[in-house]
Amino acid sequence: MAKPAPITIPTEPIGSIPRPVDLIERVARGDSEDPNLAPLYEDAIRETIKRFEATGSPVVTDGEQRKYHNFCTYCVHGLPNTAPDGFIIPYSDGHTRRLSRLTRGPFRYRRYADCYLDVAMRYAHVPVKQAVISPSALSLMYPAESIPDYSREQFIEDLLNEHGTEIRRCLKKGAHKVQVDFTEGRLAVKIDPSGHLLNSFIDLNNLALSRFSPEERRRIGVHTCPGNDLDSTHSADVDYAELLPSLFELKAGNFYIALAGERDRRHALKIIRKYRKPDQWVFVGVTAPVDPHIESPEEVRDRVLEASEYIPMEQLGTTDDCGFSPFSDDTSTSRDTAFAKIQARVLGTKGQATAIGCPAECKQHSRRPSACRAAKRGVLGGSSKAQSYGELRLEALLRRETLVRGNLSNLPIRPNDDTDRGARSPTGSSGRRGPCETDH
Ligand SMILES: [Zn+2]
Repeated sequence: MAKPAPITIPTEPIGSIPRPVDLIERVARGDSEDPNLAPLYEDAIRETIKRFEATGSPVVTDGEQRKYHNFCTYCVHGLPNTAPDGFIIPYSDGHTRRLSRLTRGPFRYRRYADCYLDVAMRYAHVPVKQAVISPSALSLMYPAESIPDYSREQFIEDLLNEHGTEIRRCLKKGAHKVQVDFTEGRLAVKIDPSGHLLNSFIDLNNLALSRFSPEERRRIGVHTCPGNDLDSTHSADVDYAELLPSLFELKAGNFYIALAGERDRRHALKIIRKYRKPDQWVFVGVTAPVDPHIESPEEVRDRVLEASEYIPMEQLGTTDDCGFSPFSDDTSTSRDTAFAKIQARVLGTKGQATAIGCPAECKQHSRRPSACRAAKRGVLGGSSKAQSYGELRLEALLRRETLVRGNLSNLPIRPNDDTDRGARSPTGSSGRRGPCETDH
């Protein structure tokens, strides 16, 4: 009897890789946009992609080597109409990070993430993925007291346009996937346990997603995690039951969900099973960047096996729980550790796929009927019961009405404690134009 084709379980990184120490030191000494740093950034990107490919990773990123200073404000860093005293993200170990605040309109990105793709694709031999920041995260830049002559409604419209442009540019340049970083989703529940803030974030992000066709949305994903900075999290104590039902309302085709570091993975998997929609792929985290322990391929394999009890194999993928250094100066994880974890993810995912591809294994693992079905069919595509573009547009317009009437502005989105002990502020604006900037 012919051997069945092994199932391919897709595996993708989240994005960031710790920057080389010499690059961090040079940036810390001066201006991150200094043209003299260009060769250092270029070397870091080339070296990162080379090491990424050496892990066998079928999809790579540029490690966000050039996203100064973090995954969130890279697109607005250096804008003249921002101030450093924006939203504060408090972490469980007591340190904080602070985003920038918009001081006047109009809101425009200073650079789009596709400029990173240009460089990465020059060096990569395998598909490259690109992460972008969510509209909901950037919505926190608009101050609670509002800006004269620039309403929140205008801001939201500009924000959606800029975000949409960024994703479209990345898709057009051939990004394997465009991942929208939505780390503030879980944080929103912590800040506002009523769920009101989270729902307004979901609505806003769906307004953005509704501008894309179902085909485009199959290449768009959303990443959720409890945060990861200096080996600390900001919302790991928030139960996934408070987040995931709303998360799967997002009209995206792919979900990258931190799971390896969860206290109770099966609890999360049960919620995923209940709320995941038929056309939504789930990439579960099988390595934990906050944990210094380097997972073995066997541990990863067991986590895939566990997840396959709850998620159909034909729509299951693996990922890391988060990027390895979402903030560019975070040296809590070394590059060697990051790549060792990635290699474990790649090997463990491949090992599990091979096991599931064997009919004998299917008999042994009778608790996995969906895995066995998938094995018999071979590699499968997802269901295409996507909501029609027209329906989505209509729904988006209705939701938008609610959103821009002000439910965002009435929310207590700023912590009352405005102290800034230990805050690492993304500063360093020089007003100089960098290599990646837009023509606005
Ligand atoms: Zn993350």
